[in-house]
Amino acid sequence: MSDSGARPSLFERIATREIPARIVLETERVIAFHDIAPKAPVHVVVTPKAGDYRDVVELAAGDPGLLAELVAAAHEVADSLADGQFRLVFNTGPDAGQTVFHVHAHVLGGGLEETSLG
Ligand code: C5P
Repeated sequence: MSDSGARPSLFERIATREIPARIVLETERVIAFHDIAPKAPVHVVVTPKAGDYRDVVELAAGDPGLLAELVAAAHEVADSLADGQFRLVFNTGPDAGQTVFHVHAHVLGGGLEETSLG
């Protein structure tokens, strides 16, 4: 849950199954699901179940162990869906394309443009 009194974020509502998603991995603190609007052959969102941190900078400062769990989950997803090869993207701030302010990583793989970063 977010700060007391705050409404649950979109991704918290996915973690509690209030909003449906194609979940590919779940651990005690992390959940991963196929992005609803994929930008690559494999495009999975990996996020903490709780919405305590807005972005990766806050997460790294506040709970680096949880950040490591996110990276490990991304690796596991890529191992099962993309031959273990992946790009990990944390959009950070609206000008960088962040639309959901509950920290999450995009796992992109399955054949990406060599020169593209996005
Ligand atoms: O980095 P950003 O905040 O833009 O990423 C949010 C992502 O969440 C988008 O790629 C969007 O397609 C995805 N999304 C989703 N399922 C939803 C709503 C958004 O996978 N129900």
